Amino acid sequence: MNGQGKFMTKHKQFDLVILGSGSTAFAAALRAQELGKTSVMTEERTTGGTCLNRGCLPSKNLIEAAKIIHDARHPRYPGLKPAEVKFNFRELIAQKDDLIHGYHKKKYESLVGGKIRVEHGHVEFVDEHTVQIGGRRLTGEKILIATGSRPVIPDIDGLRNVPFLTSDLLTNDEPMEMRELPRSLIVIGGGYIALELGQMFRRFGVEVTILERSGQLLAHGYEPEVGEEIGKVFAKEGISVVTKVTVCSVRQDGKEVIVTIQTGRKTRELHAEKLLVTTGRRPNSDQIAIEKAGVALGTHGEVRVDEFLRTNVPHIFAAGDVIGGEVYSQMATPIGSQDGGIVAHNAFASQELRHVNHCIIPRTIFTDPQVAVVGMTEEEAQAAGHKCWCNTVPMSLVPRASAIRDPAGMVKMVADDKTEEVLGISMVGNSAGEVIHEAAMALRFHAKIHDFIDLLHVYPTMAEALKVIAISRYKDPAKLSCCAE
Ligand SMILES: Cc1cc2nc3c(=O)[nH]c(=O)nc-3n(C[C@H](O)[C@H](O)[C@H](O)COP(=O)(O)OP(=O)(O)OC[C@H]3O[C@@H](n4cnc5c(N)ncnc54)[C@H](O)[C@@H]3O)c2cc1C
Repeated sequence: MNGQGKFMTKHKQFDLVILGSGSTAFAAALRAQELGKTSVMTEERTTGGTCLNRGCLPSKNLIEAAKIIHDARHPRYPGLKPAEVKFNFRELIAQKDDLIHGYHKKKYESLVGGKIRVEHGHVEFVDEHTVQIGGRRLTGEKILIATGSRPVIPDIDGLRNVPFLTSDLLTNDEPMEMRELPRSLIVIGGGYIALELGQMFRRFGVEVTILERSGQLLAHGYEPEVGEEIGKVFAKEGISVVTKVTVCSVRQDGKEVIVTIQTGRKTRELHAEKLLVTTGRRPNSDQIAIEKAGVALGTHGEVRVDEFLRTNVPHIFAAGDVIGGEVYSQMATPIGSQDGGIVAHNAFASQELRHVNHCIIPRTIFTDPQVAVVGMTEEEAQAAGHKCWCNTVPMSLVPRASAIRDPAGMVKMVADDKTEEVLGISMVGNSAGEVIHEAAMALRFHAKIHDFIDLLHVYPTMAEALKVIAISRYKDPAKLSCCAE
């Protein structure tokens, strides 16, 4: 039966049935199409998933708008006078929605048709080859679970009885989209979403308090210097960060949310107009009747996969946020997109299976200054058995950072002391999210400390941060003239 015939049968049959329609799903469907296969994505919210509709794109759009306002208010150069950029939040939201609609048309809707279909509604397994969606049944020779993740809602006394925001506040075409700025905001959680949105709201003029249960921001998976550096920046911008805090209870009083917290032995109440809960994300594996397909889950609800993204059921694959930290994955769009393509290849291509490539994952947090990391932290390298050489230098030693009067931040290198292979880089600084790609490519090809010095870097660029930190292995970079090695 050819692909066209398959669409015409009553009980719809496809080569690939995909649960979800996010970036992972689209990548898989497109690759399957290239291989001549039919696929159907299934979606209960907006086609395109988290990244497009409520994650990466809307957040980065509004974060940049907030930066324009901040930079005008706080010019870095003597001689530039502060200026007040007037803004209308509703109009900012409207332009964000327009932008997303445009992307949606160009990058998602226009790709559907031909061998790629989308069915709307809540999808669940019926058996290991069949799903149902709003009374319809779809059968796939192969199946991909790409249902993404959703915010974790912590078990805090009273939380379920007060209205609170989650990272869904940036969504479009859904009722939870935020259209009015609150006067004040309490953010529970000190991870990357808290930092990006917390700083953005502060720059829009909101009074922001971040509550973090550990001793510092970005406590997990980052070098301690990173959280410290961002903490300093946030303090300067007037963002209140409370660490080592237990959130005891939450209640609503008129137009205010009251959060009772404990720090040490002290208990106190914080008041704000809105509450934002950003305490992590969990895989969407619990509402798809996955047991009917016999697919195994890990302890945090992640779908268990091998390095070829196969679940324990040979024709069922999983990729994207729904696999959580399986095979060293992380929840980020480029990982799901690459892995979606790998799934389609492994499901249908006759050549060798492709395995995932999760060893080198560059990451960026779009705060200002940006945080960007790749590879291992010092602690991780030591745990992996390396005797490490590590060093941290302030961004002020990078000529461009000083030249453009933007010296906030630092760069840290972790290398094997004996082989001098570079194992990890962490940066906080202007354009760190761009610079990190040089480090990622270097790690991919097992570069040594000297490779960062030997590579001619454009002067003056922020990428020279990598050269400066490499030089610090051999001499004091503070005592060098520009470009000298
Ligand atoms: C605020 C925020 C900012 C972010 N910023 C970045 C960033 O800058 N860079 C980056 O790389 N990543 C970022 N991320 C993470 C990124 O958005 C996700 O890693 C990525 O979108 C995951 O893609 P996915 O295809 O695995 O899942 P999703 O895009 O979430 O797609 C899964 C889809 O499946 C649907 N679904 C789930 N269950 C069912 C069901 N039973 N029936 C029907 N449909 C179902 C969901 O509605 C969803 O649309 C951000 C996330 C957030 C929340």
